[in-house]
Amino acid sequence: MRHLYLHVPFCRRRCTYCDFSIAVRKRIPAREYVDAVLQEVNIPGVTDPGREPGDSGSEVLETIYLGGGTPSLLPPDALATLLTSLRDAFHLTSLRDAVEVTLEANPEDVTRDTATAWRRAGINRVSLGAQSFDDQALQWMHRSHDAARIAAAVATLRLAGIDNISLDLIFALPAGLARDWGRDLEQALALRPAHLSLYGLTVEERTPLARWISRGAASPPDDERYAAEYLLAHSRLAACGYHFYEVSNAALDGCRSRHNSAYWSGRSYSGLGPAAHSFDGAARRWNLSAWESYRRAVAAGRSPVASQEILSNEQRELERVYLALRTDAGLDVAALYRPLPSSTVRWLERGWAEVRNQRLVCTPEGWLRLDALVRDLTGCGTTG
Ligand code: SF4
Repeated sequence: MRHLYLHVPFCRRRCTYCDFSIAVRKRIPAREYVDAVLQEVNIPGVTDPGREPGDSGSEVLETIYLGGGTPSLLPPDALATLLTSLRDAFHLTSLRDAVEVTLEANPEDVTRDTATAWRRAGINRVSLGAQSFDDQALQWMHRSHDAARIAAAVATLRLAGIDNISLDLIFALPAGLARDWGRDLEQALALRPAHLSLYGLTVEERTPLARWISRGAASPPDDERYAAEYLLAHSRLAACGYHFYEVSNAALDGCRSRHNSAYWSGRSYSGLGPAAHSFDGAARRWNLSAWESYRRAVAAGRSPVASQEILSNEQRELERVYLALRTDAGLDVAALYRPLPSSTVRWLERGWAEVRNQRLVCTPEGWLRLDALVRDLTGCGTTG
């Protein structure tokens, strides 16, 4: 097992568009959370899908990713306790640098003290939930930071010795907000982050945004705006030396997310915490999503696994095709489809995909139509 994910479910409030499994809390139950995760580590069979008996873990753990929720709401001493305990549990001599340790953080949680403590605890990569540099758009999203906090957070992280910084941005916001996506991109690029993750706004059920749209208080998604802003991001980022190595992720040379790259290449991983998923190459399992249910299960020494699915051969094949086409590595078509389906040949003619070194690789226009390409190739739906 080389990749470990920890889901920290707490947020101060729910963002407009968010349907993640979170627990909105004024007081963050940090001690209870750390205790619960460490109890989960000790439940036999929970943390080691794909790990062989006798593996110490010392040579194999490559990445730890603290996602959420808002992991940066955990006090630094709780994060340090958690990471130190995981280092002991997995027999790591040090968490520094050989292991990529990512913390998802909101800009308002980055201070000189927290950043210094995070670095000391072994965190060497921060994924910052910037989302926009437009204060009006940030308020509309129910974010609790303003644009000025983003640049301040980046500077503070760098001063603390954390240079591997990723910024999350959301595009395709409703036209009525008059958000200038090009200006947001320029402001993000001016900070020269190592990595950028760009997500188009989608409307998920049971979110504030879905309710606003259903009563006419917000406009529904606009596909043309989505495509235009996505393609603008590709051209601006490429001009500044960033390479899109996955449909939503771009990086400077040597700065790809090792953790997320493991997901996209189909490698096994373990997840800890409520709603965390694990995958051993054949089966996927996931924990109870509600914080209290999860906490009670592990406190009683029970497995917190809610369910699992063993992937059929067809599901594995579909997933393999989908994941490969999400990335710039593309799909080795020569080994599978000979000749290419005529529908896929049309994709090549339209410039939505290219064959490079015997691999089918999406262009930016193709990534906009990824689900359709996977359907053409496999004859079935996508895994989402
Ligand atoms: S901070 Fe992130 S996880 Fe929390 S509500 Fe907002 S989008 Fe969702």
